[in-house]
Amino acid sequence: MELDMETELKRTWTEIDLDALLENYRALRDRVGPDVRFLGVVKADAYGHGAVQVSRALQEAGADYLAVSSLDEARELREHGITMPILILGHTPPDQVGELIRLHITQAVSAEAKAEEYSAEAVKCGGTLKIHIKVDTGMSRLGFLCAGEHFEGGVSRIAHSCALPGLEAEGIFTHFSVSDEPGAENVAYTKAQFDLFRRVIGALEQQGCTFALRHCANSGAVAYYPETWLDMVRPGILLYGLTEMAEELGLRPVMRLKTCVSTIKTYEAGTDISYGRLYRTQGRTRVGVLPIGYADGFFRCFSNGYPVMTADGPAPILGRICMDMCMVDLTRCPHVNVGGTVEIFGEKNSVNAMAKRAGTIPYEIVCAVSKRVPRIYYRGGEAVERKLWIRD
Ligand SMILES: *Cc1c(COP(=O)(O)O)cnc(C)c1O
Repeated sequence: MELDMETELKRTWTEIDLDALLENYRALRDRVGPDVRFLGVVKADAYGHGAVQVSRALQEAGADYLAVSSLDEARELREHGITMPILILGHTPPDQVGELIRLHITQAVSAEAKAEEYSAEAVKCGGTLKIHIKVDTGMSRLGFLCAGEHFEGGVSRIAHSCALPGLEAEGIFTHFSVSDEPGAENVAYTKAQFDLFRRVIGALEQQGCTFALRHCANSGAVAYYPETWLDMVRPGILLYGLTEMAEELGLRPVMRLKTCVSTIKTYEAGTDISYGRLYRTQGRTRVGVLPIGYADGFFRCFSNGYPVMTADGPAPILGRICMDMCMVDLTRCPHVNVGGTVEIFGEKNSVNAMAKRAGTIPYEIVCAVSKRVPRIYYRGGEAVERKLWIRD
């Protein structure tokens, strides 16, 4: 495929390794076995990787379900030929129920009042809306409250919701808050969440209310809690090969962020570099300018010290990262010239380590790579597709 990306390649780009994605998918699939279905979480543009391309790859590979945050995200997938089941995890306004039915999209239902609104709309449209009941077992975000004194009431509100006309309750799910964190307290909390989820399902079954898809295992639970896999698992970050869990499971990072050197100048000792004069050269310093800044998703907290990777080894950022550019010390990288490729994260600089340095999680680093940065998709080592949002 002929790729017209000369201008973007001269600036900053990401490489999305679809082979790594598919390897991760197969490894996770093997891990959970043939009897457990697989939902790939592709919300937030597949954690910044490109929801359409990731979903296409998962659809071809035989995944069973996808999950997104909103109707807009679901619609984007349908408009790009994704035909497999899609679950919306977040809220959809009831006046969009006709659209959900038309596009064959499954909606999470987190409260009885919402179930009633959705039911009324579905009946008005003359269709059936597929729903998954969300149970709040301790995340304290969305879902029917069923803990402690709320158990009986919660169960009966779920049963009533499932029996409403125009709704087909295909699934029931819950979400863990600390399944990815070690420590006895977190293990106990996760087990208590799972136990409550099982008891809610059990009580509903006794009333004849059953679900084809019972699911709760996010990445943490796929890694550490096999007993929670039930009918379907629901990993996100593991698919993208990030977090220490992914390292432990031998999964590979899917995204690399690269830029190149646009200018090089040598300054004498005592020269102040960038906004705020945070860095002053100690001796003669060969300074490169990189056309990447915080508007591309290279956080300002990486100023002054973060080592980007050149073909000639690591090179520290000098002074503040600007909106569109930053400076790097190439004194110890004499073979790096204008046009030389620089890795912000990728094989040499892991997103996991970068996140730790920034006091955040790998999720935030990849989600923050901005829409100004083109995504270039690789398969079999070759660039097969390119996506640039701001010019399309
Ligand atoms: C985001 C999300 C997931 C995936 O979480 P990971 O930690 O990326 O595996 C699963 N379920 C729900 C409800 C989510 O919101």
